[in-house]
Amino acid sequence: MTEKQELKVFIATRESACDECGEKLGRNAWIMLAGERGALCLACADLDHLVFLPSGDPALTRRARKNSKLSAVVLKWSRARNRYERQGVLVEEAGLASAEAQCLADGEARARWRGREEARRGELDRKYVERFAQRVRELFPRCPGDAEHTIAEHACLKYSGRVGRSAAAKAFDEEAVRLAVVAHIRHVETPYDELLAGGWDRREARRQVEDRVRSVLDTWQRS
Ligand SMILES: [Zn+2]
Repeated sequence: MTEKQELKVFIATRESACDECGEKLGRNAWIMLAGERGALCLACADLDHLVFLPSGDPALTRRARKNSKLSAVVLKWSRARNRYERQGVLVEEAGLASAEAQCLADGEARARWRGREEARRGELDRKYVERFAQRVRELFPRCPGDAEHTIAEHACLKYSGRVGRSAAAKAFDEEAVRLAVVAHIRHVETPYDELLAGGWDRREARRQVEDRVRSVLDTWQRS
């Protein structure tokens, strides 16, 4: 493949629900269309670790996408213009950070980055993140240094957006922690994201990497 396949995320214009987890997503939800399986929320589509970069800075956008294994375009239907319009892109946080670094000379870009970082961190409840990180470390004592913080921040961002889920109680049980760890391993320790970016069906991609995920889990668990 010479060119990255373009994954598309749509901002819905009416009430919607995820056809996989059943979660009611409300109006203006971000969804991915998955053929006959219907609409998926970003968590079920495995895109919820990506960060949103709004349109407006073509150089930054191009670099951020280039630096991300996995990225998606975000589109919204414009009733006035009768077509989908690009709102921005979802890219990897690290990809965006290095793109920002490449734009270092551009003071404005730096200011925008700081603004985004503050907004993002503002959503996180630090105590909650710490507690989650501790649970990860308890259950997976051999996970590499600091992985538990990355996993915890992501899990907490995810639950913070889900008020209706009795989130806090649910988040600390062993299965929830294990799922967060599995998602992290898939993104970081396997070619899963490259497969998704290459247009693989998510289930086939998961099957493809499941042995690798299991062996990493085993290693991290051994005490
Ligand atoms: Zn879902």
